[in-house]
Amino acid sequence: MKIAVLSGKGGTGKTFVSVNLAASSKKSIYVDCDVEEPNGHLFFKPNNIQTKNVSVCIPSVDSAICNGCRNCVDFCKFNALAYILNKVIVFEEVCHSCGGCILFCPTKALSEKEKIIGKIEKGISDNVSVYTGILNTGEATGVPIIKSLLEDTKNSNELTIIDCPPGSACIVMESIKDADFCVLVAEPTIFGVHNLSMVYELVNLFKKPYGVILNKCLDVPNPAEEFCIKNDIKILEKIPYDNDLGTLNSNALICARENSKYKDLFKTLLAKIIKEVPNETITDS
Ligand code: SF4
Ligand code: SF4
Repeated sequence: MKIAVLSGKGGTGKTFVSVNLAASSKKSIYVDCDVEEPNGHLFFKPNNIQTKNVSVCIPSVDSAICNGCRNCVDFCKFNALAYILNKVIVFEEVCHSCGGCILFCPTKALSEKEKIIGKIEKGISDNVSVYTGILNTGEATGVPIIKSLLEDTKNSNELTIIDCPPGSACIVMESIKDADFCVLVAEPTIFGVHNLSMVYELVNLFKKPYGVILNKCLDVPNPAEEFCIKNDIKILEKIPYDNDLGTLNSNALICARENSKYKDLFKTLLAKIIKEVPNETITDS
């Protein structure tokens, strides 16, 4: 069973929720797809780290057989190619590895070469297998790393918690596409409602079952809660704005492992989420 945790922006508590849900299961996999700024590993502090590089194919030009037709330059919608001083120049950082220019070259002057864009680290933290995707600085897209992360974990029968990148762009779509259930984490502010509405549209577009966790709740009217009620969205949990939580979180400690009140809260929450997953038979919590 795969549960994706997402939010319209960073800082809402998406990683906090993901880490604590994974820690609350008997055995689980935590996948950090926030490849531009992965930080779940700071909480889990995994051991026995294994690393593998992730690479993509980008074009390489053989100037000796290039006839200067510029077909490749015209084809590339990412402006990753230019024809300057009788030579095709490849701007590797903006190439999205679609391979189209290679197909369109009439003289076969273009071929593929491998380029490492990041890596995946896998380690163990007690009951949790921790997978972390890391995109190298300056690379165009983290999608290949997310694909590789999800491929590595797709055949497991264990509960898999996918910590998505913030926002609703293509890297988030890639992260949720095989999820059985989506958890949307929202803050109790007007900005929180705006960001919640973006991921709400996304999960509806993907026809995913979902529910909302309201984080940092105070005892005052909550615009995100009002949005959920208005749109008939299931609220899975309201997590309070709590000093103890803030202190544990700031010290990169996992609340579900350190604090009995939050251990119970996340165990109950995980069981509630599992019950929401359509046709789900796993009862691990
Ligand atoms: S592989 Fe695609 S993105 Fe990269 S240079 Fe060629 S056409 Fe452009
Ligand atoms: S399509 Fe091929 S032959 Fe034409 S400019 Fe590009 S590399 Fe050269």
